[in-house]
Amino acid sequence: MEEMNELFYREPYTREFDAEVIGCTHVQDHYEIVLSDTAFYPEGGGQPCDTGTLDQINIENVQRRDGAIVHCADAPLAVGRKVHGILNWQRRFDHMQEHSGEHLVSGLIFRKYGFDNVGFHMGETIQIDFNGSLSFDEMRLIEVRANEVIWQNEPIEISYPTHDELQSLSYRSKKELHGRVRIVTIPDGDVCACCGTHTASTGEIGMIRILSCEKHKQGTRVQMLAGRRALQYDQEIFDQDHEISVLLSSEMKKTGAAVKELMQKLSEQRYQIGALQKDLMTYQLQEYAADLPLAMVFEKDLDRETMRALAIALTEKKNCRVAAVLSGRENAYGYVLVSHQVDLKKYSKLLNESLHGAGGGTSDILQGNFRTVKEDISDLLKQLFANLEQ
Ligand SMILES: [Zn+2]
Repeated sequence: MEEMNELFYREPYTREFDAEVIGCTHVQDHYEIVLSDTAFYPEGGGQPCDTGTLDQINIENVQRRDGAIVHCADAPLAVGRKVHGILNWQRRFDHMQEHSGEHLVSGLIFRKYGFDNVGFHMGETIQIDFNGSLSFDEMRLIEVRANEVIWQNEPIEISYPTHDELQSLSYRSKKELHGRVRIVTIPDGDVCACCGTHTASTGEIGMIRILSCEKHKQGTRVQMLAGRRALQYDQEIFDQDHEISVLLSSEMKKTGAAVKELMQKLSEQRYQIGALQKDLMTYQLQEYAADLPLAMVFEKDLDRETMRALAIALTEKKNCRVAAVLSGRENAYGYVLVSHQVDLKKYSKLLNESLHGAGGGTSDILQGNFRTVKEDISDLLKQLFANLEQ
């Protein structure tokens, strides 16, 4: 598995290196460069590829193709040229922390529950699918155990056991492996066949943070973070908590209770406002004339429920034939029309078409929005409903 030109295996902490260009092929819109030796890890085994530069040329994609490692570039590099490679080290080290963290969590779950990692993806977060059911509380315990293994700071070993040694070795592996097998061992954590890059010791994983755990197909999908990205996440969560604590004048870590209290207050106030609007409406109702063919009311800030209640009161208590309650401004009005005598549904299409509206309802009640000025609405409603003879 480990070839002579795979510097990322021989010395996984190499950030810069010198090599010779031994191949450069023009493929469609890019060049594929092959080097005598490379520290760029090609995408594989669930781990994204490294990025960086070869001299001044950007390398954004590195793949393994027919046994060769190809560096995709926008510009060609002459065969025979000596080049200096520089890795985007933060990205690579993030991947090492993530990959070792992923092994550690998968290994601990395998040891405790016997579930296999049946698919994983490393990106901004690490996603792992297990073929068994796990609860968030169980994952919390795994999180604690994984961090304990990190604190033990034991070396992570890479080995190439012989065929006979492999027979007696118990290790996780997704598929039947042929040829030389690369085994990654995390003491007290995991033994797994793997082609990725790993931190030299468990301590360098830094930390493990479980983000979520949900049912997926017959098993469980876990999202987690490791290393710098876990720290960054905790800092963002800290900042959020801090911001909420300042806004609500509450202590940090007690913001949940403060938000609950706020929501309780809000719902009480909403209830009070509703009750007040009803009172106000009863009071206002006295001002409105009774027995009209059309009672039309324009008000500024009524919510839908109050509009409905007012329109119903105008027809039922004030005995108006059609009640139209509109609320809004300029050229946008919400409407509620109520009548127990006229089949309103027949007018719905005409109203919406003429007044650039949307909405509908039953023969007793129509509601929606008109997108036009008050005068147009008023004129049409009068034309349709104000004449008792209609
Ligand atoms: Zn691996």
